[in-house]
Amino acid sequence: KPVQFDRIVQECVGKMQMLAEIKGILMHAEVESPIPMVADEERLQQLLVTVLDNAIKYTPDDGVVRVVCRKFAHSAQLEIEDTGIGISPEDLPRVFDRFYRGDKSRTRQEGGTGLGLAIAKWVVERHGGKIRLESKRSNGTRVYITLPL
Ligand code: ATP
Repeated sequence: KPVQFDRIVQECVGKMQMLAEIKGILMHAEVESPIPMVADEERLQQLLVTVLDNAIKYTPDDGVVRVVCRKFAHSAQLEIEDTGIGISPEDLPRVFDRFYRGDKSRTRQEGGTGLGLAIAKWVVERHGGKIRLESKRSNGTRVYITLPL
């Protein structure tokens, strides 16, 4: 179905803004507009909420979450960057595995099933896109998502 990707991104950022504020995290979004796309709106919302929730969940108080969304000739590129705890090189290759949760000592106090990113990857791939994580422990995490228009 035809959707406006920029609007979906803005709406999800808006929904998660309250959660960020409660934690004292500054979340800001830079979204190019318009970005018309053929996609499943509900699945994309689920994808965005999962990735934004992780960025907020794994970032300590006073951190920053930055969302950048750009349109290219045949794709949209979304970058979600946080200043959080990061992911160790040992955990990084496994974060998309079902039920995998990073370093238990760090994640125990935060709820979660470890399904979020597995589902996120499934949604992205069903749309013919790609998702990638980059991280240096204690230097934050960056999620790159590319989706064809
Ligand atoms: P749930 O999906 O139920 O919220 P979860 O967050 O543990 O649980 P995923 O979203 O699949 O599960 O993430 C898998 C693991 O990847 C997490 O347990 C965490 O260790 C790591 N992770 C994901 N996003 C981030 C991030 N932005 N910063 C640091 N670690 C992250």
